Amino acid sequence: MSKENTSIHEFDINLICEYYASVERQGPGSPEITRKALSFVDNLNKDSRIVDLGCGTGGQTRVLAQHSPGTVTGIDLFPKFIELFNRNSRQANLQDRVKGIVGSMDDLHFKDEELDLIWSEGAIYNIGFERGLNEWRKFLKTGGYIAVSEASWFTQERPKEIEDFWMDAYPEIDTIPNKVAQMQKAGYKPVASFILPDNCWIDDFYAPQVAAQEAFLAKHAGNRAAEGFIANQRHEQQLYNKYKAYYGYAFYIGQKI
Ligand code: SAM
Repeated sequence: MSKENTSIHEFDINLICEYYASVERQGPGSPEITRKALSFVDNLNKDSRIVDLGCGTGGQTRVLAQHSPGTVTGIDLFPKFIELFNRNSRQANLQDRVKGIVGSMDDLHFKDEELDLIWSEGAIYNIGFERGLNEWRKFLKTGGYIAVSEASWFTQERPKEIEDFWMDAYPEIDTIPNKVAQMQKAGYKPVASFILPDNCWIDDFYAPQVAAQEAFLAKHAGNRAAEGFIANQRHEQQLYNKYKAYYGYAFYIGQKI
């Protein structure tokens, strides 16, 4: 990649980070769903070590910390998100138990069997579902848990437009039974899986973006990269409204055996 291309790419990433830093969540989910997924996790205590991979600015991390004992480390690739994560932890008075650090989910530096719980909402796709489950397993204690949310098909077949969209965006999207089988094959007891309800997309993820998009476009008026990015966001939302019977996110909770 030429230097020129690199700087354009970096600019796009900066724009994307700026946009997502302005909203509470960077992916579909809700406090109720975080608590529901957590209800399947046993045996946490004040000494438990929890990590949240691809934590973003930490909306779900704070819910996790407020409803579980132990310490929580959030890890995200983007320094801006981690800066906001740590500011938000302080504001919620969680700074003694919740810390954000910059890092990549494909280059983690935990000791083997160090962790009690690995959490990741809407982020494991960055490494790939199967790869993440396999590579992260060694960091968990035997009996420890993994809980991830992941794009999933709800039907065996679906219209071509949405099939093509996802095959381009994330070909590892699959049906829930296939994802559960992958979890079992990776060495976890599949403890639970459930579909996130529509409100996790419509109310918690897309609704706050309406005002954020207006503010972003006003700030970057005439910037074609910014306009293209927002057009893409709006297209994804339209696809979701049209095809939400066929896909969405599911939570998968597994226990290392
Ligand atoms: N978990 C948050 C939530 O549910 O709101 C954020 C989900 S967002 C869809 C995906 C997150 O993964 C972003 O915060 C992004 O910066 C982060 N990410 C992307 N690649 C990553 C990597 N290699 N390692 C760690 N985080 C990464």
